[in-house]
Amino acid sequence: MLQKREKVLLLRTFQGRTLRIVREHYLRPCVPCHSPLCPQPAACSHDGKLLSSDVTHYVIPDWKVVQDYLEILEFPELKGIIFMQTACQAVQHQRGRRQYNKLRNLLKDARHDCILFANEFQQCCYLPREGGESMEKWQTRSIYNAAVWYYHHCQDRMPIVMVTEDEEAIQQYGSETEGVFVISFKGILNVNKHRAQIEAFVRLQGASSKDSDLVSDILIHGMKARNRSIHGDVVVVELLPKNEWKGRTVALCENDCDDKASGESPSEPMPTGRVVGILQKNWRDYVVTFPSKEEVQSQGKNAQKILVTPWDYRIPKIRISTQQAETLQDFRVVVRIDSWESTSVYPNGHFVRVLGRIGDLEGEIATILVENSISVIPFSEAQMCEMPVNTPENPWKVSPEEEQKRKDLRKSHLVFSIDPKGCEDVDDTLSVRTLNNGNLELGVHIADVTHFVAPNSYIDIEARTRATTYYLADRRYDMLPSVLSADLCSLLGGVDRYAVSIMWELDKASYEIKKVWYGRTIIRSAYKLFYEAAQELLDGNLSVVDDIPEFKDLDEKSRQAKLEELVWAIGKLTDIARHVRAKRDGCGALELEGVEVRVQLDDKKNIHDLIPKQPLEVHETVAECMILANHWVAKKIWESFPHQALLRQHPPPHQEFFSELRECAKAKGFFIDTRSNKTLADSLDNAKDPHDPIVNRLLRSMATQAMSNALYFSTGSCAEEEFHHYGESYHIPVCGCNFVLVILKEFLFILIFCFLFEGLALDKYTHFTSPIRRYSDIVVHRLLMAAISKDKKMEIKGNLFSNKDLEELCRHINNRNRAAQHSQKQSTELFQCMYFKDKDPATEERCISDGVIYSIRTNGVLLFIPRFGIKGAAYLKNKDGLVISCGPDSCSEWKPGSLQRFQNKITSTTTDGESVTFHLFDHVTVRISIQASRCHSDTIRLEIISNKPYKIPNTELIHQSSPLLKSELVKEVTKSVEEAQLAQEVKVNIIQEEYQEYCQTKGTSLYTLLEEIRDLALLDVSNNYGI
Ligand SMILES: [Zn+2]
Repeated sequence: MLQKREKVLLLRTFQGRTLRIVREHYLRPCVPCHSPLCPQPAACSHDGKLLSSDVTHYVIPDWKVVQDYLEILEFPELKGIIFMQTACQAVQHQRGRRQYNKLRNLLKDARHDCILFANEFQQCCYLPREGGESMEKWQTRSIYNAAVWYYHHCQDRMPIVMVTEDEEAIQQYGSETEGVFVISFKGILNVNKHRAQIEAFVRLQGASSKDSDLVSDILIHGMKARNRSIHGDVVVVELLPKNEWKGRTVALCENDCDDKASGESPSEPMPTGRVVGILQKNWRDYVVTFPSKEEVQSQGKNAQKILVTPWDYRIPKIRISTQQAETLQDFRVVVRIDSWESTSVYPNGHFVRVLGRIGDLEGEIATILVENSISVIPFSEAQMCEMPVNTPENPWKVSPEEEQKRKDLRKSHLVFSIDPKGCEDVDDTLSVRTLNNGNLELGVHIADVTHFVAPNSYIDIEARTRATTYYLADRRYDMLPSVLSADLCSLLGGVDRYAVSIMWELDKASYEIKKVWYGRTIIRSAYKLFYEAAQELLDGNLSVVDDIPEFKDLDEKSRQAKLEELVWAIGKLTDIARHVRAKRDGCGALELEGVEVRVQLDDKKNIHDLIPKQPLEVHETVAECMILANHWVAKKIWESFPHQALLRQHPPPHQEFFSELRECAKAKGFFIDTRSNKTLADSLDNAKDPHDPIVNRLLRSMATQAMSNALYFSTGSCAEEEFHHYGESYHIPVCGCNFVLVILKEFLFILIFCFLFEGLALDKYTHFTSPIRRYSDIVVHRLLMAAISKDKKMEIKGNLFSNKDLEELCRHINNRNRAAQHSQKQSTELFQCMYFKDKDPATEERCISDGVIYSIRTNGVLLFIPRFGIKGAAYLKNKDGLVISCGPDSCSEWKPGSLQRFQNKITSTTTDGESVTFHLFDHVTVRISIQASRCHSDTIRLEIISNKPYKIPNTELIHQSSPLLKSELVKEVTKSVEEAQLAQEVKVNIIQEEYQEYCQTKGTSLYTLLEEIRDLALLDVSNNYGI
């Protein structure tokens, strides 16, 4: 029985015209399925090829995959491929004869395990195109529909994997039919750095949405299965049959050991596959170390081909042709990979340049920069030529044209800044005043960086490439030249500056926002206040005035008047901020990391001290105003350019971290309620052990870890309701409003809050307030200017980024921000290692410290060392298979025995019957030593030497009572490096050059200080121990 249908085809002719063809189309109940699992072979009347019967699943490529990746589908390794008629026709009509013939030959090829299924003739598979449905969408829908039919036709016995590039289809169909997986078959190869030889993972798009076999990443086990792909490459993966699946390893492990000794059983088998193709190579410059003389000799006769070891564990050894191996053996060297032949175990590369001596501070810092692809060469002459001049002979002045164009606030507004002491780059200033109608006017004034940085100028391109200012442990690399960042764009006191301002008119009594104004202004900041002084003024302690330079040299009368004015303004600002916060409190403001530190600098701007302290209210006042500005700008640019505005969003929190947090808290008898923001805040507040403040600190840090990093995105690539996407399982809304996570590292504390301002939910957020050090803010400033021009019906100067280009730019900025974070973390670890390096752990007091257990693993525990802010692993079983034992004197030694892990504790039992148990949150005594490495970075080793808390010797009491600050550590290391250099009087030329190249700016910056506070809190360890 045949059904007749009409099918409309729109074909494009060579002239580009569209041709409408109507074809008669007959549908049948049976078309050949070519599957050995067919329940009705007679009706299906198979002739020709049958699919192989020893596959674990069938693969159905979407039409676009057939069009674009036919070469990959041709791999003989790929088995069980079903080409749908719809996909074949898409190739025929849109890709031309050659490609179509290739596909036909493939289908005919008896050696290749693939078949054609004529889905459009099958009456249950055929779907007419719906009105308004695009050809592409219809094709994908048809293929998915046919895949589902095919699955049921084979009596649900063979899972089907439909591979597509269409992310919407993955979203839509991904979890619709059990047994039919809709995924992308390509992903990025991610090597586990702790098991670089064995484990790599590929996360496939769409694979994470379904609760089933294909739920997680695909494990690539062993080097061979990686098929010459390198960490970071975009690869195509083929799944292996289920009986070849393997589990990932869960035990703690060290980088350099193969871990065969530990004999740990891996976890449940997971989907395992192998790489069949590399779609995009992501090779970069790699820092490597040449083998030592002895190693070269052992490498055999072919001495001109040298195997070098990359600093990054995830990169395989590289073969280099050189005769310089011996001269280079003490240096860190940059190489590039050229090729990787299929017959070779190693890729080939060539020498590029020398960075510096192994173990030397500058060489190691240069290594970190190269490894994070951070290029910090000095600004070029062409770039500097675009910069304005401001010298004593040639002082910069406000130009008459700008005076005409801008709103002049110099006489009308009391503008001032509040920053940490010693801050050089002042991005933001504030103002508040009473208007004639009695209402208030609140102003936020941000440095007008885009006035000096024209789109696509040399300096603009350079800033875009850098994307951010990089803050390492002991130095920073600016995004913009210092004439801007520390001078003309720094809103210093007493000088004229261009600004971009937002001013709100607030109701005098209710502080309700009546009006908002955005625009370019000229300001002259009256005071450059530091937080403590502002707080003193707020508290009515006016004696602090002596510390404020602006009040010097004033006669008593004007001094009094000016002081009153300033005190009023700070009080009013705080009042407004309090009001905003009060509205918000019902929704639960959450302070995650309770680290409040006061920064103190001496007159040379060295960090004098960081004193843990409650945050000052004035911090929050400033933060509140900046959040308000960022939010209003986000709203403005999104309204003006709904498809091409740059906003910021937070991906959903990591649920697995939340469950770990809950489990941990349970061990201490606390209940952490992660259902909402408010419940989380409240339960964290209650989870306080009166005898051990570290417990609460650790729990808060775990909650922080659960929060994903915020990312920039273009509004055109994301539906509005996803702007603050949180996933289904963790809905933050508790009082019917939208929420946003705002992480304010720059303001000394991390808050997560929902934000209500006059009934307006803060569902849109962006970065506007720091254009000196973030390129995102530069883009946002330009968008805001364009929005203002649009409102005035004026021509928009300079082209805005299209959605596609903006999305690409966001990806670049997000990537650079990650590099900034990594380099900062790595440089901090470098200093920590250098600090401990030459200390004898057996005799030095500082190498012994108190540690707190915050996680239990199968062969060890994770420890936090409050004194140094270090987190790390301590093994309870060593490489020889011996386990830890603590005798009656509680000193530890290694003995034969076994470990047994429980939910919140781990017990070590020796063969002679002694046993010791370590619980979560136990305090133990730890010895800190350094595991030196020639080819990689040194690492800190933690060893439990007693199961009792570390007793502070009386003489050391003063030292121990306050934690060692990172700044002190950096200072000490830097000093000893300098001394060593002086003593030896060694001056290696390379190092000198490199030193100049990398030390673009010297000294400690404000942001280094602020970032330290975050570091002091706890270093991120999520990715540190291969767990
Ligand atoms: Zn059949």
